[in-house]
Amino acid sequence: MPFFDLDPAQLAEVLGSEPNYRAKQVWQGVYGMLERPADLTTLPKNLRSRIADDPRLELSLSRVDRITSDAGKTIKDLWQLADGRQVESVLMAYSDRVTLCVSSQAGCAMGCVFCATGQAGFFRHLTRAEILEQVFHAAALSKHALGKRLSNLVFMGMGEPMANYDNVVAAIRVIVQDFGISARHITLSTVGIIPGILRLAQEGLPLSLAVSIHAANNEKRTALVPMNARYPLEDLMEALQHYRTRSNRRISFEWAMMAGINDGVQDAIELAGLARRLRAHVNLIPLNPTPAWDYPGSAPEVVREFRDHLGALGVNATIRANRGNQIAAACGQLQAQVSRRAKAVAKEH
Ligand code: SAH
Ligand code: SF4
Repeated sequence: MPFFDLDPAQLAEVLGSEPNYRAKQVWQGVYGMLERPADLTTLPKNLRSRIADDPRLELSLSRVDRITSDAGKTIKDLWQLADGRQVESVLMAYSDRVTLCVSSQAGCAMGCVFCATGQAGFFRHLTRAEILEQVFHAAALSKHALGKRLSNLVFMGMGEPMANYDNVVAAIRVIVQDFGISARHITLSTVGIIPGILRLAQEGLPLSLAVSIHAANNEKRTALVPMNARYPLEDLMEALQHYRTRSNRRISFEWAMMAGINDGVQDAIELAGLARRLRAHVNLIPLNPTPAWDYPGSAPEVVREFRDHLGALGVNATIRANRGNQIAAACGQLQAQVSRRAKAVAKEH
């Protein structure tokens, strides 16, 4: 069991005959001071080396690549898991906050046609420890490299968080309680898995919920987001209404702007109809190019017109800044790039 799978009682058990206060000290050192367990200089040297050698206190991720852009304000890390699978996380510094985009699965089974992660398919769920450790490394990076506290979290990396519900929610509880990130500053982004949304409404966790809509009629949406066939828009809207009432949290819609596909007048009208019912905020995302989806994103002026049209229809919409575009900070793309690079290198030899 790696370090980030342990609760305080299990940590005390692993530390065995050590005095009781040691477990607290280790916990505080890791979750509070953001030091690796084996680097805690406040501990006696022999205990530190015992910690370093104990497989039950191991970390789960090793970094295989880091790409920085936006003058050091966007940092994308590629992590290797113990079984060789790879996932990514992206740290983004803004003037008023530092946000981490985390992965919840290695791959994704949802098959959205425009998404690099979906195109690569599903490998496995991340464990609670693997999710928490992304937060740990990012919080330490934010503290040391940016001199700022990691304040916000978005589950918008690789994977569908609702498909890995138990591990994601278990990790979120620790993130709130032990890393001290407020639930209100955590956004769970979902393709629209209705049972997960209904379950989350009962958790008493005031998370922000983002829903990847991308098309506002069933025919179009099913073509882009195949899960829509299972959880069609009418049922999804009902579940979201329930979430909104129960949690009292605003819901947002994600809409990747695809030229000639979902950026027309009729699309804006249909989307406005759904958004108004839920008083949802709309985030317009410039489409990032992916290997198996050949269609271009909407031109910037079309995106602005679409936003203005939504505004005229009574819907608040913002155009999301395309952070890390040069480093392919979209869903799953760093991994795709590294594997291509690795393949190219392998070919040369
Ligand atoms: N599985 C979840 C969260 C991860 S995807 C979900 O789908 O919501 C995070 C966001 O990136 C989603 O809104 C998703 O639709 C969007 N996305 C995926 N591929 C994209 C692309 N090529 N360009 C722009 N946004 C993309
Ligand atoms: Fe999975 Fe989200 Fe990508 Fe769809 S957009 S394939 S749900 S990661």
